[in-house]
Amino acid sequence: MRFDLITIFPEFFAGPLEHGIVRRAREAGIVQIQVQDLREFTKDRHKTVDDRPFGGGEGMVLKPEPLFEAVEKLLGCGMGEAGNKTALGAETAIVLMSAAGRLFTQETSRRYAKLERLVLICGRYEGVDERVAEHLATEEISVGDYVLSGGELPAAIVVDAVTRLLPGAVGNEASTQNESFSGRGEGTDLDRGVVEGGRRPRTLLDFPHYTRPAEYRGWKVPEVLIGGNHAEVAKWRSKQALEKTRRNRPDLFE
Ligand code: SAH
Repeated sequence: MRFDLITIFPEFFAGPLEHGIVRRAREAGIVQIQVQDLREFTKDRHKTVDDRPFGGGEGMVLKPEPLFEAVEKLLGCGMGEAGNKTALGAETAIVLMSAAGRLFTQETSRRYAKLERLVLICGRYEGVDERVAEHLATEEISVGDYVLSGGELPAAIVVDAVTRLLPGAVGNEASTQNESFSGRGEGTDLDRGVVEGGRRPRTLLDFPHYTRPAEYRGWKVPEVLIGGNHAEVAKWRSKQALEKTRRNRPDLFE
């Protein structure tokens, strides 16, 4: 899978995408990540990427021309005329990072993991000329209900979340199937009706993990995990996952 990140701060990604699973996935050729400097797609002497907002108000807005030019060059096609977004093909998405976008979830991540190409546009300043959201991006995505100063961290979040779902990226694939938000706990006690009161969460958070030492500062690892009874361990884990979901994310219960 190929990612193209369009940004005015290309050096920003030197750290976040060069560690752990993402680094290994790049080395193994599972993902190609290209960082594109937006200024290279400007045509004026000053490499202008932003301008003042029409209608007045604070700050600067990223201009449409360099963003359209960048995406068109990358994808080798003209965009923005009627029907062109659909001509793009189902295997590519052009995503505008935006605090005003739809919420990015594990489900979004799973959908992106099936694509061949993801172009991520990082905004800055007060944001991006709306014609980018309307006529260039195929979707507008927010990583959470808070405002960051740029789309670079959100883009790195998307790259990370999607990469770890690609076959071969995580050593033990089962580990991405049993994580928080990965499903409804099918085949577990949750599924068999351990849920009291008839209320089921839409998805489960992860169960608590423990490692050595078995006792630390007097806090003991739950007995059942040490006993080696796999059925009991599984039962305990579903129950704890359910409890944690109820405690930390009551909104996940329908
Ligand atoms: N004026 C905008 C915020 C601009 S922040 C508003 O009120 O919605 C500058 C850039 O940071 C945005 O263009 C976007 O690319 C990025 N950004 C900020 N918060 C984000 C979030 N929660 N999710 C995704 N991108 C975000």
